[in-house]
Amino acid sequence: MSFFDSLKFSRLKEGLAKTRETLVAKVNRLIFAKGKIDEEFLTQLEEILITSDVGVETAQRIIVSIKHKTKEKKYESQEELNELVRSEITNALVKGSSNGSDPFEFPPHTKPYVIMVVGVNGVGKTTTVGKLAHNYKSARKHVLIGAADTFRAAANEQLEVWGKRAGVEIIQQLHGSDPAAVAFDTVQSAKARGADVVIIDTAGRLHTKTNLMEELKKIKRVITKISPEAPHEVILVLDATTGQNAIQQAKLFNESVGLTGLVITKLDGTAKGGVIFAVSNALKVPVRFIGVGEKIDDLQPFDAEKFVEALFEKESH
Ligand code: GDP
Ligand code: GDP
Ligand code: MG
Repeated sequence: MSFFDSLKFSRLKEGLAKTRETLVAKVNRLIFAKGKIDEEFLTQLEEILITSDVGVETAQRIIVSIKHKTKEKKYESQEELNELVRSEITNALVKGSSNGSDPFEFPPHTKPYVIMVVGVNGVGKTTTVGKLAHNYKSARKHVLIGAADTFRAAANEQLEVWGKRAGVEIIQQLHGSDPAAVAFDTVQSAKARGADVVIIDTAGRLHTKTNLMEELKKIKRVITKISPEAPHEVILVLDATTGQNAIQQAKLFNESVGLTGLVITKLDGTAKGGVIFAVSNALKVPVRFIGVGEKIDDLQPFDAEKFVEALFEKESH
């Protein structure tokens, strides 16, 4: 690992501390206490997984798979047991984010690459937009942010702060204007200026409010008028601390606007990091990034293997 990679990795480990304390410490204690896999072990493991918000379905899938494996081979030492449980948890994550490609590069002929960021109130959309802008800027991309949250009074000011931090320009209109119009303006300006990427921040909305979901569809339609393949991505931001409710949010947003990826924020503040498994499994939509803090460099591309590694790695490292 390079210096920066290991720095990021230790930041990730730090961010996952609470989830590690619950999920992993419990699994380790169980392995230590039982020392072999039997029905009781599996029942207790399932319980730990479910209470860590991995989700019932995912927990059961992991258990079934472990049962299968233990029929083929005896797992006796604690290392072997550990390795088995850990690899089955990794496999339960939907991959697609960790294909080794640079997460800040775009496919060819997608200029501008348009990313729409959606979600309920307070999940961390604006923060994520700022962090993403910073990352793309650092990857030498010309970035434009569209301030399509015209609903919340201080939304423009908040985004301006992030724009300054990231060194990225923002396209905005007056509070109360049509968010679709802002999105239209932004994509059009990006096209005219030859920008590489557009990131559209949107207002928070409850997934259950149909009129507000219609507003999102309109934003999407309007963008398509300028650039038929756009938006290239619709990213739903989910707050990890909400636990299982995240799944319902994700389902309804997916039905309305078709999600291409997820960002799970606030993993640093919760023991419910397991929800990442539940959501990606329920939706088959990849987790693209995770938020492990409030600072501009606290967004990390999601890599399922690294994530599990950071969860399970011993403290002594
Ligand atoms: P929005 O309403 O969805 O746009 O949410 P904001 O971006 O305004 O964020 C709401 C709050 O969540 C702010 O106080 C952020 O600092 C905080 N926040 C966002 N992402 C993270 C994260 O990954 N970790 C932590 N601890 N806080 C975060
Ligand atoms: P009411 O729906 O007429 O009672 O009034 P509201 O103050 O709830 O909303 C007025 C309009 O503002 C709605 O038609 C929505 O378009 C919009 N609005 C209300 N709440 C939200 C919200 O949480 N997010 C967003 N984006 N728009 C909202
Ligand atoms: Mg916001």
